[in-house]
Amino acid sequence: MSQPPTPDQRPKQVPQASNSEVDQRYMRQLAAVAEVGRAITSSLDLNTLLRVLVDVLRNTFGYYGVNVWLLTEPPDITQLKAGISATGVDLSQLEIQYSMQVDNLVTRACRSEEPALENHTRFSAGSQASLSEHFPNARSAMVLPLRMAQKAVGALEILSDQEQAFSAEDITLLRSISDQATIAIRNATLYESERSRRHLAETLQRVGRAISGTLELNEVLALILRLLDEIVPTDRSAVMLLNQDANELEFVATRGFPGTTPAEIPHIKLKEDNIYGRVFRSQQPISLPDVQEYPGWQELQILAPARSWMGVPLIQSEQVIGMLSLARETLHPYTVSEVTLAQTFADQAAVALENARLYDNLARFSHQLREMVQQRTQELQRAYEQLERLDRTKSDFIRVTSHELRTPLTVLHGYSQMLLQDQDVMNSSKLRPLAQGIVQGAVRLHEIVNAMLDIAKIDSSALELSPEPVPTSYLIKNIVSNFESALEQRNLNLEISSLSSLPPIEVDAPAISKVFKQIISNAIKYTPDGGKITITGQEITRDSNVLDGASGIQITIRDTGIGIDPAFHELIFTKFYQTGEVALHSSSKTRFKGGGAGLGLAIARGIVQAHHGKLWVESPGHDETNCPGSQFHVVLPLRQPPS
Ligand code: ADP
Repeated sequence: MSQPPTPDQRPKQVPQASNSEVDQRYMRQLAAVAEVGRAITSSLDLNTLLRVLVDVLRNTFGYYGVNVWLLTEPPDITQLKAGISATGVDLSQLEIQYSMQVDNLVTRACRSEEPALENHTRFSAGSQASLSEHFPNARSAMVLPLRMAQKAVGALEILSDQEQAFSAEDITLLRSISDQATIAIRNATLYESERSRRHLAETLQRVGRAISGTLELNEVLALILRLLDEIVPTDRSAVMLLNQDANELEFVATRGFPGTTPAEIPHIKLKEDNIYGRVFRSQQPISLPDVQEYPGWQELQILAPARSWMGVPLIQSEQVIGMLSLARETLHPYTVSEVTLAQTFADQAAVALENARLYDNLARFSHQLREMVQQRTQELQRAYEQLERLDRTKSDFIRVTSHELRTPLTVLHGYSQMLLQDQDVMNSSKLRPLAQGIVQGAVRLHEIVNAMLDIAKIDSSALELSPEPVPTSYLIKNIVSNFESALEQRNLNLEISSLSSLPPIEVDAPAISKVFKQIISNAIKYTPDGGKITITGQEITRDSNVLDGASGIQITIRDTGIGIDPAFHELIFTKFYQTGEVALHSSSKTRFKGGGAGLGLAIARGIVQAHHGKLWVESPGHDETNCPGSQFHVVLPLRQPPS
């Protein structure tokens, strides 16, 4: 391949070139420029393009060295992106870079945006030290800025092994090449950024889907770190959450940390002046290109030293709740797009974290609730068992006492009756009332003991019934007749209606009489003088479902008395329950508010239930001034099932 003339081989001064020589050289240069142009526009891949640019410039013009430098963003570092050493080594892999603070031809050209020229120097130590070994014979250098939209984005460096190698003509030629190169670089960069934007959008969408796909806190944390590593490769990363009380960051998940659980890692104090405090205050990611240059950088003992670091805040409702920490162990600063990417990711991660935390709280709360319910159920069960035991004890007591009292009472009753038949006693105005008092007391005691016996039988389901058909109307009227004098005494009006049409019912007449006696006696007791008691009846059909498909009758006893608070509607049917004050107790069966032993309604319900019937009360409430009244309903089936 014929080598074109190169600036290094040409005489530096050409004072008397003929017109045709000038034209020829001009044509050759134009052809070379066109060749470069063709070559560099053949690819849209930035690395390929730069490599082609370096090759074609070396081959076409025979330069000793060609390097392309590009500025990072923000422009604080310029990196060698393409270059081939004098011995043919690809320099792009060596990660050679200069800080823009350093002064050398490359940084000078980038800063001034003008070509920089050195005509007889070697690379001086400290400036292009790393390059001097690759280009030991470099004697002059020219660096042209690559300018895009009025600012330098990098530089094209041409090296020659001759001193004074570059003429004004060369500068013009190389300027035109560098302009073409800039356009090609811009196209490739645009193409690349479009491609990476699309890739980024796709990645973020995928990451977003993955991260919100689970609510289990530990899974979310592990996913955050795994996906973060996918989009911003890093040697180790951690999720740290703020412990507000202690003003500390606690490690909750780590990746790439050797042999430690997050809980074992010492917490990090948030201070105004440390890097973590700065991330919190600014609510912005902070990237340290080289931690060695950051004063006050503190390394955790357990970890290999970090070189490039980035802290990204996790923000929830405008509050920083923690941060992601990303560290690289070699000098490999995070690029601007990596920082943006990490922040976008952190925003998604913060939402996923918050959701997982809420879910975690909810799960923990419902677990606690379940445990509490279980505990309360056990307590209730224990209380219920204790109550059952107490109830059994009460029943046993009633059973034993009533049996024990019955015999001496019968004796007492018998002897007191004998006293009443004794003429001497009856004739004595002193002894007669005493004997009558004893008889009355014995009778009352007898009634109480009988009531206790009834309760004991009901409790042990030992009530013996002999049901036979009884005309309902006759039964009720018979009972009412016993209360005539009491009604008169208390000036109460008792009305019976619609009973005569009722069918006969199959009941144990003495037992059912006790039920109605008790209810009517209560109606008298709890209705003030001058009040009214009404007894009505109606048939219950099979389909009314009151008696689970059986037909029967319903007797309702209404009074205009003091009424019963709905809170006690069930309690009054339990044994010994009285709503009034026990201290005001009176044993009269018909005196206003004269209380009994509190057994009456318990026995009545026991008897009705033993007949497969129902007994309940309705009343708007207890009010002794307005007397809202009560209604007691007794429902009994027409027939008893065969025993
Ligand atoms: P007692 O023998 O004390 O009357 P009961 O078992 O018959 O016991 O009645 C229980 C309680 O129900 C009574 O103490 C009373 O407070 C209330 N009670 C029963 N019937 C009526 C009624 N018709 N009006 C208002 N309260 C009543």
